[in-house]
Amino acid sequence: MKLLDGKATAEAIKKDLALEVSAIKSKGGKVPHLAAILIGNDGASETYVGSKVKTCHEIGFDSTLLRFDPSISESELLHQIREINRNPEIDGLIVQSPIPSHIAFSKVTETIDPAKDVDGFNPVNSGRMMQNLPAFVAATPKGIVSLLEHYKIETSGKHCVVIGRSNIVGMPMSILMARNSWPGNCTVTICHSKTVNLEKYTLSADIIIAALGKPGFLKASAVADGAVVVDVGITRIADPSRKSGFRLQGDVDFEQVAPKCSYITPVPGGVGPMTIIGLLQNTLLASKRSFQFANSN
Ligand code: NAD
Repeated sequence: MKLLDGKATAEAIKKDLALEVSAIKSKGGKVPHLAAILIGNDGASETYVGSKVKTCHEIGFDSTLLRFDPSISESELLHQIREINRNPEIDGLIVQSPIPSHIAFSKVTETIDPAKDVDGFNPVNSGRMMQNLPAFVAATPKGIVSLLEHYKIETSGKHCVVIGRSNIVGMPMSILMARNSWPGNCTVTICHSKTVNLEKYTLSADIIIAALGKPGFLKASAVADGAVVVDVGITRIADPSRKSGFRLQGDVDFEQVAPKCSYITPVPGGVGPMTIIGLLQNTLLASKRSFQFANSN
């Protein structure tokens, strides 16, 4: 069994990104600038946004963190997003989820200018990705593809089972794995909360991508020998023995499953750092105005 080490891979890619930013700076070019909106003070969201902002600084990007009270109205939030859409200094915008239940996430994603939508959640970007047109690909699936590429994982003709069908992970992931490219060219099965007898599918999988948010869900009995397993899940589990009071657990029962795998991602240190890389790569693309969008602001 080999680890798909997202932390080490992300560090290597970060060095390349930092070199590119310093080359841009030395030529007097536009320094990539990411804006992040954080609503409320959920501990996990604070951590995720904090890591994104910290990584921006590490590689020389500019960043702006905008914090709003959870009582912010939907119309006020959409107004703030439109202001950022119009701000030429800011290249990319993300709104950290989860957001308060009185605000429709779909309205948020649709309001972000597709040209600044570095999370790739705007339907323009997800539609373009589906049609294999230049687009901002959602950061987590993009990071997973980069990780498979880094480890030269053979995907063509393989059976890939994606567990989870969310717009931000499972659905785009399944499209990427089915695309006519490498990594890709898999025969993809999408499993979800209504799938009956999930093991029937996972046991015939060469590659399993678990993105359901249920800690320790995927057991060894559901995994074939030699499978490649990518664990997207991150759940905070109370752990009084830790200073933080919690530990992170993935969707895979790592101890049992790892010995059966050819490759597996750890949690933490697997998909999480690669997600940040996907986001920063998108922000760099946005700063270079890499894609043309007909309806962009
Ligand atoms: P989500 O809640 O939006 O979607 C979960 C999906 O899992 C749904 O499509 C549902 O149908 C499916 N599901 C639920 N129970 C199931 C079951 N018993 N069997 C099969 N499928 C089932 O979640 P999400 O936003 O896609 O995130 C999934 C997990 O990935 C979460 O733990 C989240 O924290 C994590 N995540 C990690 C990163 C990262 O950077 N590592 C990024 C995004 C999300």
